[in-house]
Amino acid sequence: MYDVIILGAGPAGLTAAIYTGRAKLSTLVLEAAMVGGNAGIADLIENYPGFPEGINGSELMARFRQQAENCGAEIRYDEVLDIERSSRGILVKTRCGELTARAVLAATGARRRELQVPGEQEYLGRGVSYCATCDGAFFRNSPVAVVGGGDSAVKEALYLAGIASEVYLIHRREGFRAHQALVERMHSNERIVLKLNQVVQGIEGDQSGVKQLLVKDVNDGSIRIIPVEGVFVSIGMVPAVGFLENRLETDSGYIVVNEELMTSMPGVFAAGDICSKKVRQVATAVGDGALAGVAITEYLKE
Ligand SMILES: Cc1cc2nc3c(=O)[nH]c(=O)nc-3n(C[C@H](O)[C@H](O)[C@H](O)COP(=O)(O)OP(=O)(O)OC[C@H]3O[C@@H](n4cnc5c(N)ncnc54)[C@H](O)[C@@H]3O)c2cc1C
Repeated sequence: MYDVIILGAGPAGLTAAIYTGRAKLSTLVLEAAMVGGNAGIADLIENYPGFPEGINGSELMARFRQQAENCGAEIRYDEVLDIERSSRGILVKTRCGELTARAVLAATGARRRELQVPGEQEYLGRGVSYCATCDGAFFRNSPVAVVGGGDSAVKEALYLAGIASEVYLIHRREGFRAHQALVERMHSNERIVLKLNQVVQGIEGDQSGVKQLLVKDVNDGSIRIIPVEGVFVSIGMVPAVGFLENRLETDSGYIVVNEELMTSMPGVFAAGDICSKKVRQVATAVGDGALAGVAITEYLKE
């Protein structure tokens, strides 16, 4: 029996663990994939206060982890499959077994949205990727494409421009949603070739991996072929709610919380990108984590 079990070791989960650990609550953080979450795969985080030169995401998250452990939190690799209320508290069912906690924090974040075009699943890991900082190095001096028009897509393109021979940025509109400073940096990078008003129709290749991308011009409907060896999909995120969707109230897939970050299930809180809110960033996930940590401490005192 733990006082608190935190699902997900991203910025939100690790921040909450710092707070509940410092409050001397027995705290277990369960992580399915990689401690640090999405922040851990960001090449350079330039908007998190305290690091005026920016900081590499995995370096920042290693510090979060260290701090959570210093405060007494235990971090364990295990995937959470379900939660339910029981007479003893909240039952957390994982791949490795069952655990019980007096309170649970869902901080499972969000994962990349898929294109859902032919070839995407077939070539996953053989040219198709959702993370440039994880897989970019495989495409040294090869042509690649990034699909998307937001901050993440432009950042991925800028990162890949330092590795690949050309980076085709495929965007279905004329204008970019990305931050202006990033767009300006993109325009001045000679290796980035813009392909605007284009939508991806399919990804093709052979046994060795991806060879080309089929794109359709939204204005005249014509189909073009772009020869690339890597395709980086960056078209937004979907909440990693999974099993939680059947258990907790959601809004467009994101978990609904009250001011104290409590969900519709008493004793179950939620924080970070998984919540229904406007801004999904490291700083806001950290804010949520702190608030949830304090709210859980108060809840358990009562
Ligand atoms: C490429 C990229 C670059 C970014 N750059 C920036 C930036 O420069 N600045 C900025 O402020 N933000 C940036 N962001 C956004 C930022 O990373 C997120 O807002 C932040 O990580 C959200 O934190 P979180 O803790 O809510 O969720 P996440 O970071 O998504 O962490 C959730 C964790 O939960 C785990 N998990 C999921 N399901 C389960 C389960 N069933 N059981 C156990 N564990 C589970 C996941 O594996 C993950 O580790 C970037 C995101 C990406 C993808």
